[in-house]
Amino acid sequence: MPASLPRRFSRPRLFIPAILVLGLAAFFWPSPDLGGSDSFIFYFPSGHHALPLESVGSVKYLPLLQILNMVGKVGGIQEKKNSIKVWFGPTQIELRQKDTKVLVAKASYDLHQPVHLSDGQWMVPVEFLTTVLPRLAHQSVEYQQGTNRIFIGDVRPASFSVRLDPIANGVRLAVQFTDKVSVRTASINGKWVLFLGDRPMEPMEPSFHFQNAYVSDLRFDDQDGVPKLILSPTSSGLNFFPVLAEGGKVLLADVLKPPSPSAQVSQPQPASQPKPPSAQSTPAGPAPEVTEESPAAPPAPPLPVVALDAGHGGEDNGGRSHDGVFEKDLAAQYVARVRSALLATGKYRVVLTRTGDVNVSVEQRALAANLSNAIYFLSFHAGDLGSASPRITFFTFQPPAPLAPATVPLAAAGAIPAAEDAAPPTFVPWGQVQETRLGQSLQLALALQQQFALVNGAQVDMPATAPVRILRNVNAPAVAIEMGRLASDADATPLTDPNFQQQVAGAVVQALAAFEKGGN
Ligand SMILES: [Zn+2]
Repeated sequence: MPASLPRRFSRPRLFIPAILVLGLAAFFWPSPDLGGSDSFIFYFPSGHHALPLESVGSVKYLPLLQILNMVGKVGGIQEKKNSIKVWFGPTQIELRQKDTKVLVAKASYDLHQPVHLSDGQWMVPVEFLTTVLPRLAHQSVEYQQGTNRIFIGDVRPASFSVRLDPIANGVRLAVQFTDKVSVRTASINGKWVLFLGDRPMEPMEPSFHFQNAYVSDLRFDDQDGVPKLILSPTSSGLNFFPVLAEGGKVLLADVLKPPSPSAQVSQPQPASQPKPPSAQSTPAGPAPEVTEESPAAPPAPPLPVVALDAGHGGEDNGGRSHDGVFEKDLAAQYVARVRSALLATGKYRVVLTRTGDVNVSVEQRALAANLSNAIYFLSFHAGDLGSASPRITFFTFQPPAPLAPATVPLAAAGAIPAAEDAAPPTFVPWGQVQETRLGQSLQLALALQQQFALVNGAQVDMPATAPVRILRNVNAPAVAIEMGRLASDADATPLTDPNFQQQVAGAVVQALAAFEKGGN
């Protein structure tokens, strides 16, 4: 590295092999616009498409025919002055201007907001995506209310959680991804932008606001179909050192005050001296064209997080049934159903400890739950529980030794602490975190047991304790749910039955509600 490069331009000197240092070379994005546009992104396994959103009052609209042409084939249309018929595959769809009803193969659906014509284009409210589209698309449709993105088909978006910790002379941002990402950094309009590669992302929250002397907020943006995080520093002249760790699953970024002038006595630099051109590689204060968010309205508190853990994965298949069903796949099926059911309540966000068929360590799974401040942790497994099937057993963690005196839960596991007023941390050894939660975990297991007992045909056991490794490091009420019977001499049919799986998902939702009602 040339000696003439200013200090702030140099890479952090980290020689830990597990850590990959990201390039911080100056990089200029052709457009200075960071998310001013209003578009809706459709993610497919093959790529993404953006459609412009049109707002009428508080309702957002999308062009009907463009949506249909993306998810399938429009066979023909018949337009009249105030109505349109569309042949979509074997299905006929009929809409009327200023009408909230849509006819799909003669069945009527209510969009709550009226269809309208805009410059000859038929526009439907975004609610069309949840009310009508799943009935037309012969593939999975995943849409979280209020967002400007939808996932159609086998897309499996990754997600992430965020925390910020004070360190000497700055803060450390930790972003934990559910899957490996590649990250490219750039400095645009005085903000740091982290491009997250091609992988579609579904953020649990669109933005995070911080209170400290270094960074004010972190925002997710994929308005142009390129997922990225935008970090806003509170002032210019701060140094930014991002590194990728854990094989690309964790991004650590230190935001540091540059060394104070008194520490550079040998090279005094008057504050009034103009910055060298390379200062563009660090934020130079917000440029005028970027509108800062108003500090007046504090954002609504984010929804609580439920961590769902699909057991095994990758080379670790877990158990296998006579008819060739792997435990890892069955666990993922249950997690997907429970996830959809929880999201549909509008009461929770969901973090998955693994997405896709990959092997994730138990530490990594617990970390994903703890970093997202999950309020529940549910691990799904299947095994040989004796002759009855379906049969369900619940396990809470059994500590290896007599229980230590009650310890205060990890202070760091609460809300993201402000740098100035962070309480002195109370440390509970990582391996004993769950021991502080055993009472709640048992209450949760009992609530689950009561609701699962209502599932048709299932034999449900009383909760038991076991030294389940996956639960040990989780800082939340945590239960492992074991389904049976999955064994080499039995077919998995009772467990793969969609109706049974759906009932299980419903039972989880009911159990969490009952647990919350119980004042726990
Ligand atoms: Zn298992």
